Formats: sequence, C-alpha cells, structure tokens
Amino acid sequence: MLDRHEVAGSNPADPTITDSKNLFMKVEKFVFNPFSENTYILFDDTKECVIVDPGNSDQYENEKLVDFIKEHSLKPKLLLNTHAHIDHIMGNKFVNEQYGLIPHFHKDDLFLYQSSESIATMYGLTYSILEAEYNYLEEFDIVSFGNTKLKCLLVPGHSPGSICFYNEAENILIAGDVLFRESIGRTDLPGGNHQMLLAGISEKIFTLPDETVVYPGHMETTTVGYEKVNNPFF
Ligand SMILES: [Zn+2]
Ligand SMILES: [Zn+2]
Repeated sequence: MLDRHEVAGSNPADPTITDSKNLFMKVEKFVFNPFSENTYILFDDTKECVIVDPGNSDQYENEKLVDFIKEHSLKPKLLLNTHAHIDHIMGNKFVNEQYGLIPHFHKDDLFLYQSSESIATMYGLTYSILEAEYNYLEEFDIVSFGNTKLKCLLVPGHSPGSICFYNEAENILIAGDVLFRESIGRTDLPGGNHQMLLAGISEKIFTLPDETVVYPGHMETTTVGYEKVNNPFF
C-alpha cells in the first residue's frame, strides 16, 4: 500500500506530457454468472493486471477468464472485490487456485463474505467459499500494479463495505454496485442504507471530474457527468 501523495500531480489532459507510459490502463469486461455480473480485468503496458470481482461460476466462464489472461500474456497481481455479494465473489476460489491470489475487500463486508455459502444455497447456486486468507482494503488505500494506481473510495449503502476503485490519473472508476447508468445499487439487502448510498455518491463520486468513466458491476458504462444530469435518484 502506497501513500496517496505518490499519485498526486499527474495530469493526463495535458498533451505536452511526454512520459505517458503510465496513462493507459485498459479495462476488459466479462459478463458472468446468472446475475449478469461484470467482472473486470485491468491491465497496462507492463502486462501486470488485477482481477476485480471475479464472478466466473462454471468451466466456460473460467476458461474465458484464463484464455484472455493467457492470450495477452498478463501477470495477475491482485484479486480485488468491490464488495462481498455472491455475484462478485463467485470466482474467488478459482482465481486463488489458478493464480495464488487472495481476495482484498473492506472489513465491513466480512459478514457477507462469511455467509456467502448459505446465500449461494438460497439462490440455488453451486459455490464453495475460498478457504484462504484475505486482506482488508481501507478507504483511501492506494492499490497498485504495473504503472497504475487505484484509490479506494468507501461508498457504503448498497453493502456496508462497498469500495470503488478510482484511477485518478485517467479518470476511470470501477464502481461495483454503487452507481449504475441512470440507477443506483439496491439497498434492501442486509446492511443496505439508501440515504447513506445517496450521500456517498454525492460526496465521493459526483465530486470527481465529469469525464470520469464509470464501470459498474452490472450493465453498461456511464460517466460522472452523465449521471449528475440524468440519474433519477438525484
Ligand atoms: Zn451487490
Ligand atoms: Zn452485483
């Protein structure tokens, strides 16, 4: 974990900056499992990558993930979970077995993580929890891979420990189930809080630059500027 000051001062909008090798994070999206959950692989020129919310739930989806990593010669460095709802952690065990990575999530979602097997049973899903260590993410932690840094923003309300990963240098937000195109995360699940979610989005996401591209946990991408104008919850 690096201090956030290490990312200060970059300005990707300035075309005179020549040292731009750290400004091209690529985002690959997979739509996995019965919940149509968005799994993301983030990578840059160094070929290092992080896997965010692996939702792969069967052999076909496992192979899609592995094939992409293999085809692009990527080196998986971190397993990140925006939150611990079952659709976002279903592939944790496979990713751990395949790449030796342990999950990183916020401690306030531990109760969801620990009850994930019984929740999966409720939904009639085949799933076994990863029996391995895990690491906690704290608000404003900087997670890094290759030349890329992601700042953790804690935006509770959909779940108590929902984290958004913000690439400050390139204005990209991996939002989990916090904010969707013209919608927000549901708040009727255990630990949900509607007012807290609205406040968190206003304070931590709508204060990011309008051009910030938002990659949500379901459905298509959007931008901060578009949601400030068009999201019916605000
Ligand atoms: Zn969720
Ligand atoms: Zn979800």
